[in-house]
Amino acid sequence: MKLPSLNIQILLGAVFGVAIGLYFHGLGAEQQTVQSGLYVAGLIGTLFIDLLKMILIPLVFCSISVGIANLRQHQQMHRVWVATLLFFMGSMLIAIILGLSASLYFKPGTGLQLNMFENAMQNFEAKQLPLPEFFAQFLHGLFVNPFTALAQGNVLAVVMFALILGVALVMGGDRFKHVRTILQEALDVTMLIVGWIMRLAPLGIMALLIKLVAVQDVAMLSTLAKFVAVVMGTTLLHGIVVLPLILYLFTRRSPLWFWRGAREALVTAFATSSSAATLPITLRCTIQHLKVKPEIAGFVTPLGSTINMDGTALYEAAAALFVANLVGVELSLMQQLIVCFTAMIAAMGAPGIPSAGMVTMVLVLQSVGLPAEAIAILLPIDRLLDTLRTTVNVEGDMVGSLVVQKLVTQTSH
Ligand code: ASP
Repeated sequence: MKLPSLNIQILLGAVFGVAIGLYFHGLGAEQQTVQSGLYVAGLIGTLFIDLLKMILIPLVFCSISVGIANLRQHQQMHRVWVATLLFFMGSMLIAIILGLSASLYFKPGTGLQLNMFENAMQNFEAKQLPLPEFFAQFLHGLFVNPFTALAQGNVLAVVMFALILGVALVMGGDRFKHVRTILQEALDVTMLIVGWIMRLAPLGIMALLIKLVAVQDVAMLSTLAKFVAVVMGTTLLHGIVVLPLILYLFTRRSPLWFWRGAREALVTAFATSSSAATLPITLRCTIQHLKVKPEIAGFVTPLGSTINMDGTALYEAAAALFVANLVGVELSLMQQLIVCFTAMIAAMGAPGIPSAGMVTMVLVLQSVGLPAEAIAILLPIDRLLDTLRTTVNVEGDMVGSLVVQKLVTQTSH
């Protein structure tokens, strides 16, 4: 019997995962079958994520250095840089404005009282994260001994070193052609392994979704229903309308064409809640299905997976207004602008791992004097919200690759 295509298998895995998760949820966590089922799902889900994380660092290192090295000319390199950064910042700004406007309009959090959540807040202590210090730390983390960075899985530092290496390879021209060939072959072999890991994706995604759905905190979810609806609604709006519109305006590509090519990565992002873990698949989809040149995709997607986070930026801004409503503070226009700015920094600074946005959100809350402890209220529902925002984060990286490719090839004629 012929198996359906990997794409279809992944979608089926996701549907079955949600269905079995709901079934387990209905049975209750005490049931023996549910416990054993969740144990097995936990094993498979973790194995899938471990495999992705295993290949992640070699992949980032090779794809960025080879990507930059293949750009060859100076000018082209410069254009890719500028277009990428402008796209990242522009799309995050739109996301933040969306999140802020929706929260200002719907006012989630009003009517709820902070003391309703005392229990949650008791065991939580927010870490101080003043902006100058956060910025200094971010900057300090960019340049690290590459061997330490590789060994510790520090994606951003690996990205930076690979960038510098790539630039050096361009400058050196033919002198370093062997290093370039070795890196190119290393990249090809890494992508081959990614292809093998992908075969496990349908099962891995099913397992992750079973766990996610089965252990949802429904009580908290219904108390915060309005906030959840506003965040999910605006995140979806950004993912389904804004990003495809940007794509269409720049490249004339239809959303359906894009989603068909991107769906493996989008479903994986949804299930893993980690842009970093999804990166091997993002890169594969961007090159193979969306037909972006490897040197551009190899640069934009790894960099994007750590600093381009539309969903996270939107969430940080919306959550800040939610907390303000909860404690009954009205933010002035100036304070809203501060939220815009810090939400962007916080999203860029968040690594692409589950719930990273919650940690850097302390920064946004503190910048306008809101109680950072209120994050404790949002933690129980974060795994659920993280699914969609990570999906949109990854979507932004893929749209970014297509837009940058268009901009760069257009201007180089
Ligand atoms: N989980 C998100 C990501 O990997 C980051 C976040 O927590 O917002 O993209």
